[in-house]
Amino acid sequence: MTRKIVGIVGAGLSGAVIGRRLAEAGHRVILMEERSHVAGNCHTERDPRTGVLLHRYGPHIFHTGNEEVWRYLCLFAEMEPYRHRVIARAQGRIYGLPVNLLTINQFFGQTFTPSEARDFLDNRRRRDIVEPANFEQQALSMMGEDLYRGFFRGYTLKQWGRDPTELPASILKRLPMRFDYDDRYFTDKYQAIPKEGYTALVERILSHPAIELQVRRKFETSDQSFDHVVYSGPIDRYFCFQLGRLEYRTLDFETFYAKGDAQGAAVVNYCDLETPWTRITEHKHFAPWERDQHEGSVLSKEFSRRCEPSDIPYYPVRLVAEQAMLNRYVERADATPGVTFVGRLGTYRYIDMDVCIAEALRAASVLIGSFAAAKPPPAFIEKPS
Ligand code: UDP
Repeated sequence: MTRKIVGIVGAGLSGAVIGRRLAEAGHRVILMEERSHVAGNCHTERDPRTGVLLHRYGPHIFHTGNEEVWRYLCLFAEMEPYRHRVIARAQGRIYGLPVNLLTINQFFGQTFTPSEARDFLDNRRRRDIVEPANFEQQALSMMGEDLYRGFFRGYTLKQWGRDPTELPASILKRLPMRFDYDDRYFTDKYQAIPKEGYTALVERILSHPAIELQVRRKFETSDQSFDHVVYSGPIDRYFCFQLGRLEYRTLDFETFYAKGDAQGAAVVNYCDLETPWTRITEHKHFAPWERDQHEGSVLSKEFSRRCEPSDIPYYPVRLVAEQAMLNRYVERADATPGVTFVGRLGTYRYIDMDVCIAEALRAASVLIGSFAAAKPPPAFIEKPS
């Protein structure tokens, strides 16, 4: 086997998992991370004032039904069971999300059984919308005007900075609607958070003699010192934005402190348009196994806005204009040998952590296979769509 020198750009989950697999297969990995820490946006750190494990770039809850992904993570971290629940403030009252029977009964001041609630909403939802073409139509056909206005319209306008009629229906499809009292945000078989946080997990994945980690290292596209590059940064940035900038949302956090338990839940969403933040996270609730050891509490108000060139991108916006631009970047990438694009930013898709890991495992196999067969690896393992 020829030992390749592979440059990996970005020490998030995608870069780390691919790097580890390549190193185990006998290749040498130079992992370049421009921030001062690994784990990308799932980075966690101890808050110096309270000792609480802080999700610095917003809430990250690992959930999956994928056995392979779960087993893989458990090789590197002790995963603590964690069941995510979300509280929503809407029209001056408190509810549970996703919309479930309790939410419906409280919102409409009713005592419906599941079938009564179904019948009730059937008369309120827009049954004429058969194939919802956008977020708003998806919401109206699923739940009707009142619930949509109560929980989704304001939050979505704040989160995406766009009218929900401009946004794809797929964003809302992330959330279920239930006619029982199940208020779990996710229903996957495995839901957990690494006991020591995501950064410790990624550090362990990267702890291999054939991986050289370089933090605060900016990658230049002109760098020719690698046999192959795996790029998990924004695809438009790789090409120096020559075809334009793809739109992303970025987040700002306003951190504040409290004593004890300030909000009683990890995440409270503020669904109205008047409150400028989208949600408040109380970090100690992400680690219930150690929560009571911390007297102080650290909280973050989360604000979403358009991502400017010097900001950290979080969410790909993926509107029609972006789609056309993305297609042109994909053509460029396909015509650029020596680099494979991976992850949320490399493929400009709104994917969860478990999907990132599953795709990274697949990408590593393809890369290892290509190297063994002396064939050039493809530009994408998962094509942006
Ligand atoms: N959403 C909303 N109100 C809420 C929660 C979610 O309108 O209280 C919408 C919003 O458009 C959001 C999408 O549903 O972007 C998906 O929510 P999810 O919780 O999956 O978002 P994430 O945690 O990835 O930001």
